Amino acid sequence: MFERLFLNGCFLHLDPNTPEPRALLVRDGRIAAWSTDARPAGWPEAPAVDLGGRTVIPGPVDAHCHLVSYGMLCAQEADLRGAASLAEVGRRLRTHAEKLALRPGDGRWLLGRGFEQDRLAEGRWPSRHDLDQIAAQIPLRITRVCGHALVANTAALRSAGLDPAGSQEDGFPEGVLTEERQGAIYRAVPDATAADWRAAARRACAEAARAGFVGVHSLMADEREVRALIDLRREGPLPVRVLMQLPYSMLEHAAGIGLRTGYGGDYLSIGAIKLFSDGSLGARTAALLEPYTDDPTTVGELIYPPDELARRVQRVHAAGFQVCIHAIGDRAMETTLDAIESAVNVHGPWSFPPRIEHASLVNPRILARMRSLGVGAAIQPQFARSDYWAPERLGSDRARGCYAFHTLAEAGIPLAGSTDCPVEELDAMAAIGQAVTRPEWSPQESLPLDRVLRLFSEGAYALRGFPPGTGRLAPGQAADFVVLEADPRRAPPAEIERIPVFMTVVGGETASSAS
Ligand SMILES: [Zn+2]
Repeated sequence: MFERLFLNGCFLHLDPNTPEPRALLVRDGRIAAWSTDARPAGWPEAPAVDLGGRTVIPGPVDAHCHLVSYGMLCAQEADLRGAASLAEVGRRLRTHAEKLALRPGDGRWLLGRGFEQDRLAEGRWPSRHDLDQIAAQIPLRITRVCGHALVANTAALRSAGLDPAGSQEDGFPEGVLTEERQGAIYRAVPDATAADWRAAARRACAEAARAGFVGVHSLMADEREVRALIDLRREGPLPVRVLMQLPYSMLEHAAGIGLRTGYGGDYLSIGAIKLFSDGSLGARTAALLEPYTDDPTTVGELIYPPDELARRVQRVHAAGFQVCIHAIGDRAMETTLDAIESAVNVHGPWSFPPRIEHASLVNPRILARMRSLGVGAAIQPQFARSDYWAPERLGSDRARGCYAFHTLAEAGIPLAGSTDCPVEELDAMAAIGQAVTRPEWSPQESLPLDRVLRLFSEGAYALRGFPPGTGRLAPGQAADFVVLEADPRRAPPAEIERIPVFMTVVGGETASSAS
């Protein structure tokens, strides 16, 4: 029997009707008892942690992130987020190339991630010619922060078998590829080894714990990422709990060998099958009902025709999996809800709540349908600040329905909080703090702190169809919590996002510690 005491803490159990506990007794990974005494008499002799009066919050779960890809990105790609000019993009890429000692002809690529054309002083998309000036001999690919668009240099386009001069998409300079057209470039980049993938998974899990997360719902790009996590789990318990959301491309294989949502253990399990219905607002590929306000020539695009999306969602339902569907624009939301409804009509009620990833742009009709269909959403508080341009892109009226977290919560939609890392920083307090304090363009959509803490803990379990209360800081629940250096209830709201994590505890074990 494993026992551990956590003494002299201030546990935010989020229950206004009972006094706040000051000490916890953990037994075999669960909270066995608690006490309002900081050092209760009569508890068993067991190793004890003195929390020094620090505040403890229910364990935040990142309900939507790309964990293993993130670990791989950290190792392999230059970070271009926040770059303010093409010159800066070039500087960061050259530094990275030196660090990896890339040489022309050695077969390796120069990769960068996270640029935003809106932030560049040049005020335009980079082209293949811009990238040729950074590296002419080495294949170079940079991806936009949203992952829905990339720019490749001439060498990269050639290695992918594409005609560099014929690589132009409507409205974009040469070398920019969006959505599924990015595939050829991704396929041309040489593969990492299984050991590289395992190292990436290990690094990413440790980062998640350090960032104040006790668990993640990780979108898996492909089988290599799944294998990396399974290999890692065989070596021992993971520092954080990982739910693997599989891509639709893996559905037939997974179903064929008998896998279903829920298979696995406490530390690693199979979650939903992931589908896309549209792109991103940043790249103007999110599917809208009305044209983009700052580009009336486009309404974005659906990834599949509506009946094809419906067919795929039905297939997921029939195979016994939960479904999660990326939907950002209001048209994508409606098409997605149609598909979810069609699956109910064909195969009956879902065993797991269907979930929409992002649910960025909503209106009253969409909210009513989400509620009647029992659809939950994984939301990303950090998007509201990053997408400061939302009122220009959507018009101020329509932008009121964008990242409308308060409106979604009030409508009774089950919500879970997330970062979408590497799109945003993997940082629990940043995500929590930014749900409490909203940017100037939408202050009315902020949420009170206790509600935010709930949607990052209980919310993540509710979205998986677990019984209400799972994920709470309470006896009988898993001993998953995060110890903070300051009490977020007493901090000025704008400071919450900067409160340092002192310790992350998963199943009563220290997953990460600042000391
Ligand atoms: Zn994502």
